[in-house]
Amino acid sequence: MKKVAIIGAGITGLSTAYTIQRAIDKGQDIDYVLLEKDSRLGGKICTERTSDGFVAEGGPDSFISTKPWIFELAKKLDCEDRIIPSNDELKKTYILIGNKLRMLPDGVMMVVPTKIMPFITTDLFSWPGKLRMAMDYFIPKKREPGDETLASFIERRLGKECLHRLADPLVAGVYSSDPETMSLQATFPILLDMEQKYGSLLKGTFTSMKGRAKAQHGPSSGPKRTLHMSFKGGMQDLINEVVKALDKDKILIGADVQKVDEVEGEDGSTTYRIHLAGGKTVGANAVIFASLAHETANLVTGIDKDLAGILKEIPQISAATVSLAYRKSDVKHDFKGFGFLVPLGEGYKIKGCTWSSTKWSGRVPSDDYAIIRVFLGGSRKQELTFLSDDEMKAVVKSEIKKIMGIDAEPVNTWIFRWPNSMPQYTLGHLDRVKKIDEYVACHPGIFLAGASYRGVGIPDCINSGTKAAEAALSYLAGKIEPAKV
Ligand SMILES: Cc1cc2nc3c(=O)[nH]c(=O)nc-3n(C[C@H](O)[C@H](O)[C@H](O)COP(=O)(O)OP(=O)(O)OC[C@H]3O[C@@H](n4cnc5c(N)ncnc54)[C@H](O)[C@@H]3O)c2cc1C
Repeated sequence: MKKVAIIGAGITGLSTAYTIQRAIDKGQDIDYVLLEKDSRLGGKICTERTSDGFVAEGGPDSFISTKPWIFELAKKLDCEDRIIPSNDELKKTYILIGNKLRMLPDGVMMVVPTKIMPFITTDLFSWPGKLRMAMDYFIPKKREPGDETLASFIERRLGKECLHRLADPLVAGVYSSDPETMSLQATFPILLDMEQKYGSLLKGTFTSMKGRAKAQHGPSSGPKRTLHMSFKGGMQDLINEVVKALDKDKILIGADVQKVDEVEGEDGSTTYRIHLAGGKTVGANAVIFASLAHETANLVTGIDKDLAGILKEIPQISAATVSLAYRKSDVKHDFKGFGFLVPLGEGYKIKGCTWSSTKWSGRVPSDDYAIIRVFLGGSRKQELTFLSDDEMKAVVKSEIKKIMGIDAEPVNTWIFRWPNSMPQYTLGHLDRVKKIDEYVACHPGIFLAGASYRGVGIPDCINSGTKAAEAALSYLAGKIEPAKV
């Protein structure tokens, strides 16, 4: 029987395994093994739940609802009822400018204001800044083709102040990236399309608003849709549901893959030998690398040095989160809102803070408590990720005191570090991905999937894992198609 090996059991590898498991359940004669080096499954999706009722997210705390793949997966897993909306009646986001939390005006879509009155009355922008943003209406579109950094695009269309006060903290926050190096084509192609189609972001956003409003209301069945959504027990719910649907005998945890070799059979067919730490090997007819680009590079060096080289060109950076639970009676703050973001250059180390127990229901034992989550690191402050626990707590405590006036001791603290593990889509990213596709196509039976290539968000990872599994199944059924990451 032909066998697929999947390397990495984050959400990408788990979605891959689930697609193959379903094919087996439907009668396809195939085997698989899921190899995970860690002692747990889920990769960056990692929720800690305490017995006294706190829920702290280590990695992602939500997913964007405008992409269908997580809903499709939840439907197949019969766990749609575990998906929850954010508490949008309390939706207010603040940006820290000049030591003051200023409310993000109502109606900002991505980086484009869509409502006139909130834009006129906001103190987030100066009058010259507002006028410069409105100039977008008249600035001609760029004619030269090719990629551009996010910073260059925003500055060109909406001005420097919009870049600093809005795009940098809001948009770059999603990727933990530096807008000065981010590829617009790879991260926000929609902004590029709007410029090309409508000649202006303001015009484009107004025109697309109707369609978007419809999408946010979502289908008539299933959970109520908000832009960001989560799971009742935290994002780990999704992992638990996928794992439940897999055959436990096909999952190897603590299986640290060291390298993969290509082996030519006497009949001309190619198979793969996967070497694990400790000396064990696993044979497979196809291998799906659901590990990040750098990790994959180390594993494929023996197969294709050029592929390994280009995988290494996708930078990976470090970040950390610190969650703090407070007894509300110890704190003067009302936590009314979803939190705040800190633009670069405002003199703070932290990047932002989510007021998690306001944004999501079920994150604290009772209304007497609040939990917040602070972000550190990212492409411009990676060194903070490597502070000791005490140093990190001291930074967070002192800045939260300055910004929110909270001086109380938290009743609980959780620290999660993600060293060298957030892929960056820098200028020219899509060209690199195209080249990776070309190299991979030279090795029938090899497939790459995950956050390093065509989307870092969880829905994109699910889509990527599912597609890789489908391509591997077709390949093993004798229908050879070029592999795409
Ligand atoms: C702090 C933080 C907040 C985030 N917030 C959001 C958010 O709110 N919404 C959102 O959509 N996304 C968010 N993301 C991004 C999202 O979490 C990730 O892009 C996604 O989870 C990546 O999934 P993955 O399976 O591709 O990779 P990973 O989760 O990194 O999984 C890769 C797996 O491969 C394993 N592996 C690697 N090498 C080997 C080897 N040699 N042998 C065996 N196993 C190996 C690793 O141990 C790991 O388990 C966030 C990320 C972080 C860090």
